[in-house]
Amino acid sequence: MEAVLLRARGLPESRTIATYLAAGGYEGLKKALTMTPDAVTKEVLDSELRGRGGAGFPTGRKWGFVPKDHPGPRYLICNADESEPGTFKDREIIEHDPHQVVEGIAIASYAIRANTAYIYIRGEFVRWARILEEAIEEARKGGFLGKNILGGGFDLDVWVHRGAGAYICGEETALLESLEGKRGFPRLKPPFPAVVGAFGKPTAVNNVETLACVPHIMARGAPWFASIGRPRNTGPKLFCVSGHVNRPGVYELPLGVTFREIIEEHCQGVRGGRKLKAYFPGGTSAPIMTAAEVDVQADFDACAQAGTMLGSGGIIVLDETVDMVEVCATVAHFYAHESCGQCTPCREGADWCMDILDRMVEGHGRPADPETLLRICRFSSNGITICPLGDAYALPISSIVNKFREEFDRRIGTASPLPQKKLPVLPWTGPRPGFGV
Ligand code: SF4
Repeated sequence: MEAVLLRARGLPESRTIATYLAAGGYEGLKKALTMTPDAVTKEVLDSELRGRGGAGFPTGRKWGFVPKDHPGPRYLICNADESEPGTFKDREIIEHDPHQVVEGIAIASYAIRANTAYIYIRGEFVRWARILEEAIEEARKGGFLGKNILGGGFDLDVWVHRGAGAYICGEETALLESLEGKRGFPRLKPPFPAVVGAFGKPTAVNNVETLACVPHIMARGAPWFASIGRPRNTGPKLFCVSGHVNRPGVYELPLGVTFREIIEEHCQGVRGGRKLKAYFPGGTSAPIMTAAEVDVQADFDACAQAGTMLGSGGIIVLDETVDMVEVCATVAHFYAHESCGQCTPCREGADWCMDILDRMVEGHGRPADPETLLRICRFSSNGITICPLGDAYALPISSIVNKFREEFDRRIGTASPLPQKKLPVLPWTGPRPGFGV
């Protein structure tokens, strides 16, 4: 497949508007401005583009939920928070070709009739925030942003907003709270952001890679985009591969390629000639897959059918030397740290799993531990929490326990019993003074 989203990677001065224009940049925006906003939305709907941030929701449908007759402002938000472990694809787009994102934002804003757009980017990504600000400035000077864009009567301002660096702010409603200057607490849905979003106004939130696809759809047409991949899973996709492979990196491939092809061909296999043991197909919040499941297709529907999810496309490869109890403990630590604390099953459950797993790693596992882990995860999954983080820790942990149960069983009773703690000597002997006894 020809490179689409990464076509500028390796070109000199790839970030500048001159390079972008020379490659046909902003043609999609020009074409969009000759169409009605509804026709632009329909084109994206026909392309079958699905959100690349993790959920895989059809982008055109999301735009269609923004009410057309709302009298006040509407907002378009580009989610550049990219915090899922093992995910580094959006930064690759911004690093090499930020104007794709700016053009995608302009087209999406036009489609939902928004005159203000924000790029919400994780606070630590200082470099990429600056790259985006430079690209926005270039686009303003070129007449692709600002007042009366390309003489088409459409106005748009785009602002980069840096978050404070919290995983949960990648969740769209926590992002909105953070953008409004509040603590990044996810909101209960409904109402959905399309109706009550930023500052209480209709808002569409789209991922960087999703928006980067939009200019190509407009310039080359929905049928071209839909011809890549397979039905309902169309277009190019960035897969970021890390872990025990010979060539980790970001690969642009059609949706529907198998994980085997990604790992064995593009990444040149598991490093050191070792065997594949397992892999996370879409960041650590996706249920783990074993080596026997490596022929699954890397797309939204095939992953769902296989009991996992494509998520952000962050593939983490684990070789045969990896201790799965330790992997599980690492996952629990991350999500226990990142839970915002609003929901009891998430706040207490992730922490409880972490404590059990730490104890197991130290060799003090108890016979009931694997079942206790599964029970905690059951109480935190299936969407019972305010946001998906309840599932994000429960699904990978329960999948690791289920698929690698023998490793957990081996951790039971492998160390000498914990030393009995000596009870402290109380400083008083009678009733405590001041307690009304
Ligand atoms: Fe916060 Fe976790 Fe509840 Fe999400 S699921 S709102 S992160 S406590």
